[in-house]
Amino acid sequence: MANDFPVVIGICLDAEASWLGRNPDNIRRPVLLSHGTFAIREGLAPLLALLDENKIRTTFFIPGITAERYPEAVKEIAKHDHEIASHTYGHRSVLVIKPEEEEPELVRGIEALEKITGVRPTTWRSASWEWSPRTLQLLLDHGVKVSTNFHDRVRPYRHQQNGKPTSVVELPVQWHLADAPYFVYGGEVARTIRVAGDVQTIWQDEFDGLMEWPGAFYHLTLHVELIGHPGRLRMLARHLQYLKSRSVKFLTSDEIAATVA
Ligand SMILES: [Zn+2]
Repeated sequence: MANDFPVVIGICLDAEASWLGRNPDNIRRPVLLSHGTFAIREGLAPLLALLDENKIRTTFFIPGITAERYPEAVKEIAKHDHEIASHTYGHRSVLVIKPEEEEPELVRGIEALEKITGVRPTTWRSASWEWSPRTLQLLLDHGVKVSTNFHDRVRPYRHQQNGKPTSVVELPVQWHLADAPYFVYGGEVARTIRVAGDVQTIWQDEFDGLMEWPGAFYHLTLHVELIGHPGRLRMLARHLQYLKSRSVKFLTSDEIAATVA
């Protein structure tokens, strides 16, 4: 039904973690890391205010290392009633860590958030949307119920193991429905920074198309350090107004996952 079209917004609060996860030597580059610190110092408060104004609850994905560095930010997000989800410990991709490091990365990331909020997160996103062949079993072993990493469908589905459905629901994502490909700039990443209005057009076109696909949902991925700049927040405000004009329902990741059979 066109009414109640599900919209899920997943917001990463990486801060410095994405730069450190990409290259540990970046610890010696305070200016580069400050691109991430912007999320804490400037971006988070107006973003939370914009979501409040629109009465939208989202899911925030926070690496353990960021949570330990900025526990007050985690508490603030929880106070605004958003779902707190795990985003690894050190934002290191499974492509770069040793196989035996994958489990401690997962567990440490979950426990860092649990220690701060008192709630064990059950939604998880990897660093840079990568899985290894071991990931599903680790998620099952550690009580993760929702993964938001794959790009293969426009609707949520249940991961299978040995041909049988498991307790892990996937909420597929898309790079073109994220802010990072358009706005990340710095260090070893040098792309053309996109006009915010063009990005809004891409997101809106995809939303309009998805609304016509039965069973689809709209899944937007944002990063506080990227979207939390003044002009981009204005673009996001316009985009949220557009979504709201089309009779959608906003759900957190765990809420939409709970609707999957
Ligand atoms: Zn991230």
